[in-house]
Amino acid sequence: MKLTRRDLLVWSAGATAGLIVTPVPWKLLDDVSIWTQNWKWIPQPTRGPVEVKQSFCTLCPKGCGMRVRMAAGWPVGVSGVSSNPINRGALCPLGFGAHQLNWHPQRLRAVRHRATTSSWGEARAAFAKASGEGPIVIVDGQPGRAASSVFQAFVQKRGGSYRVVPGAENQALAPYENWSGVPASTLGYDLENAQTMVSFGAPLLDGWVTPGRFTRLWAERAAGMAEPQLRLIQVESPLSRTAARAWRWVPVPDGAEAALAAGLARVLLDERLVPAHGPVPSLTLADAAAQTGLGINAIQDLARTIVSRPPVVAIANDQNPAIAALNVVLGAVGVRGGIVTRSRHTLSAQSVQAVRAAPSHVSYVSTGADIISARAVLIDSTVPWDFTPPTDAEVFHFAAWDGGSSKVDWLLPAPGFLEELTDVPTAPASAIDTYAVAPALAKAPPEGQGAAQFLVGIDPHLIPAEKIIHTRCEGLFRERVGTVHGQEATPVTTLASVQQLEERLWEGAVWVNDPPRSGDFRCELSEWPKTAGPVPPVNRLPTWLAPVLPPLASKLYQESGLRESPEGENGRKA
Ligand code: SF4
Repeated sequence: MKLTRRDLLVWSAGATAGLIVTPVPWKLLDDVSIWTQNWKWIPQPTRGPVEVKQSFCTLCPKGCGMRVRMAAGWPVGVSGVSSNPINRGALCPLGFGAHQLNWHPQRLRAVRHRATTSSWGEARAAFAKASGEGPIVIVDGQPGRAASSVFQAFVQKRGGSYRVVPGAENQALAPYENWSGVPASTLGYDLENAQTMVSFGAPLLDGWVTPGRFTRLWAERAAGMAEPQLRLIQVESPLSRTAARAWRWVPVPDGAEAALAAGLARVLLDERLVPAHGPVPSLTLADAAAQTGLGINAIQDLARTIVSRPPVVAIANDQNPAIAALNVVLGAVGVRGGIVTRSRHTLSAQSVQAVRAAPSHVSYVSTGADIISARAVLIDSTVPWDFTPPTDAEVFHFAAWDGGSSKVDWLLPAPGFLEELTDVPTAPASAIDTYAVAPALAKAPPEGQGAAQFLVGIDPHLIPAEKIIHTRCEGLFRERVGTVHGQEATPVTTLASVQQLEERLWEGAVWVNDPPRSGDFRCELSEWPKTAGPVPPVNRLPTWLAPVLPPLASKLYQESGLRESPEGENGRKA
């Protein structure tokens, strides 16, 4: 039989059409997918019993309550705990993918000294030598933990300094500390009782304070309502996600926030819309209008609108003193729905140390000259990766993951997600004191070691973090105040022993103090603070990201663009 070119073409067309309707190509595609997901270096969760435990995310200072699904002792999934009063079931995208982080290819698995593999023994010897030769500084990203007490004890004995990298929320509360003497770390926003919030650029719906705290309030009392119970007025140049969802968006140029705050205060005082709580700004209304581009009438209308639904509180995104002074004029300091000190009950000094992120006046890294002249700087793994100490000292950086391009002398592998026992003090800007414990649910790799454990190895007389946590629980039990929120809410007064309290905390419950009492915090302000243009933040770190992102978080938050970028580039300029 003679085979023509036309026969061949017809045959191959038929074969191609036939292949598509047979399962062969799809089976091949499926197999290739499976093969490519099963390379020997890709981690395979061990088969074993599945259990669900309750704990806390410790990747940033917010300490969200989470439910952790464990398979054969490894975390394989997380979700929020709706009964948790801190985050009310919400987690950020990083928290949702946190269980993937321990498997990340950039997980640090060995001590590195200037890019070469070294050992813990050499690192310990180098740090001990440095701390004997000159001053040392320890930098902490999550102050108030038992580990933080170990750091403070170490530097006290060696004559060094303890410094904290501030979050944006605590920076915004710094002016009240200057005017009242009450530490910013003990202040918070009583958001739950406010009816009007004037946010000067704070990303209230995009990662501000603990996930779920403001967003749940907003969903219950504002979302989709033409006349919301909670009015959010967003003062910001770009139409950010928060601005787009706010009840009112007030676009003003970057740096004109202080002028608007002064203009609003002037109208409030001139028109007697508030009792006189503070000084009259020197800026005239005409100047405020010129700087903000809003017009005199618009500023007057805004001032009248703000006070028409009290309680009202102004929220800054940095330590701009003019916005804090506006709160003084509004009478929003030390009152329900405003800026409050946290606890109704006075706690003993020991318990204050346990529950508060910074027990006394904390020294931030950017305010200390000692870091520049230090012989050695130890950076804890809780410090954001992109923090670079302004120093030529020998730098010992603890981290669970290598975020790349870090100029440090020693890179020291720390325990990863839920691999180390830690306590969780009150979240930044919270109005209520809380305390929780996150036990080590997963086994840390043998090469991992936390900074506190490292220091105890150098100075065995230091009290280890585990013992400090136990002492803190004893202190809280003795206070006999507050409620333990677990499966159900249990007042501490009904617990029979400290063991009962510890058991509940170890099982994922959280101790919550009673709500704040108004009137016990005052700011004395004799003259309107001077601000020349925009106020630069001390060290603006709006996002507390891990050095690397888990795949789930990348999907949720980078590729999807669901989260506003720190630069606000997703927002349109007004
Ligand atoms: S906000 Fe912080 S503590 Fe909460 S889930 Fe995200 S990373 Fe974890």
